[in-house]
Amino acid sequence: MERISYKCNKCKYRFSRKADIKFSVCPYCGTGNCVEIDTGDTASRILDEVSKYERMD
Ligand SMILES: [Zn+2]
Repeated sequence: MERISYKCNKCKYRFSRKADIKFSVCPYCGTGNCVEIDTGDTASRILDEVSKYERMD
């Protein structure tokens, strides 16, 4: 499954979701209409995965 990277313009949180998941609220700060697709490079995508595991508490 392809994953799409997103970023929140409110809190700058970056994360990724499966391409078939639709949402508009930032999972970190909960703000709506502030999340956009992150067109950054591959490095940022790797950071997304790292941060995801760090937040698994
Ligand atoms: Zn946010």
